[in-house]
Amino acid sequence: MKILVVNCGSSSLKYQVFEMTTEEVLAKGLVERVGLAGSSLTHRREGREKVEIKSEVKNHGDAVQIMIDALLHPDYGVMKSLSEIDAIGHRVVHGGQKAVRSMLITDEVKAIIRECFAFGPLHNPANLAGITACEQLMPAAPQVAVFDTSFHQTMPPKAYIYGIPYELYEKYGIRRYGFHGTSHKFIAMRAPAFLGRSAAELKLISCHLGNGSSLAAVERGACVDTSMGLTPLEGLVMGTRSGDLDPTIVSYITKNAQVPENDVNDYLNKKSGVLGISGVSSDFRDLEKAAADGSERAQLALDIFAYHVKKYIGSYAAAMGGVDVIAFTAGLGENSADMRRLICEGLEFLGARLDDARNEATRGQDAVISTDDSTCKILVIPTNEELMIAMDTRDIVGK
Ligand code: ADP
Repeated sequence: MKILVVNCGSSSLKYQVFEMTTEEVLAKGLVERVGLAGSSLTHRREGREKVEIKSEVKNHGDAVQIMIDALLHPDYGVMKSLSEIDAIGHRVVHGGQKAVRSMLITDEVKAIIRECFAFGPLHNPANLAGITACEQLMPAAPQVAVFDTSFHQTMPPKAYIYGIPYELYEKYGIRRYGFHGTSHKFIAMRAPAFLGRSAAELKLISCHLGNGSSLAAVERGACVDTSMGLTPLEGLVMGTRSGDLDPTIVSYITKNAQVPENDVNDYLNKKSGVLGISGVSSDFRDLEKAAADGSERAQLALDIFAYHVKKYIGSYAAAMGGVDVIAFTAGLGENSADMRRLICEGLEFLGARLDDARNEATRGQDAVISTDDSTCKILVIPTNEELMIAMDTRDIVGK
């Protein structure tokens, strides 16, 4: 069974083709600068050199067309006919309250994606444009929407209702939704499998630490709390996002710190976080290097980040009445032994003891990095959101 996974951003389209019998990637690619000058496709058939194709890509329809041309190409393509694609799985950022699971795309599902434009103004319209283009150009393939928010729909109201007038939730749907759900779901599935345990017996904290970062508390396989909110701005301090704030800061900086009201969103999403604190970079590799070279503010940014993750781990352990597994994933979580050590220092009271040698030796692979006598297992599990989308798509289409 071949499944095509499509992830449309406002000016990009990423894709991967999976052979699901082996879960292997046959080809992957990225169309960049959709709708802008200088657009191109980078495509790679597994085991071959990358090819780069410069081409005018006016919209997502053009992007889907050049992806199809690459997939069917006699040299670097991976199929003779589009009929070989059994199904298409689309990443969709926001599914609101109605998308409680991945869904076969119908007019109702497209309406749900449209209803959530206000919550995901950059992503949802692009996601829908990709779906529409695929429907037009590959009408025979069933299509599935996999939402970043749906894994978190099992949260109880006490975890998702904000402390503001309830009518704002009832009338406008203002509540915590959470993101990175596809990644957290993958970790919630893979971590127990790696340990040879059943998800039903575990309290797990999934730590997705990358440019954007979030934590999820997962009890018996279901999410009970997560750190991102109505939008991905809430929660941890991130690369460029502020994370949790006293909301009056917003009106204060517009009145007193020369930040125009229209720029506040940009300020908090793109100029804050560890970038804003350090004044050095949003990239954690740069920060680790700058801190090693003596930058106090880079070190402060790293300390704040680790402290926030530690506090969230503590609060989720309290929420679940304990924790059996803490799993690190995404660029920073998978690769930075220093950050994992900073976060885990002081978590021994939860029964979580890091093994320094195992931690140092682990980069980007499944591993236990806690000591043998640690009652809470600390893991590194590389995330694979595309594979998770392909698996959900297979499960839905196979039914
Ligand atoms: P995104 O949210 O864009 O998917 P990623 O999951 O790719 O992000 O994570 C990117 C972050 O991971 C960057 O800040 C990068 O510096 C950090 N990172 C990647 N490798 C390392 C490493 N070896 N050491 C420290 N940080 C790393």
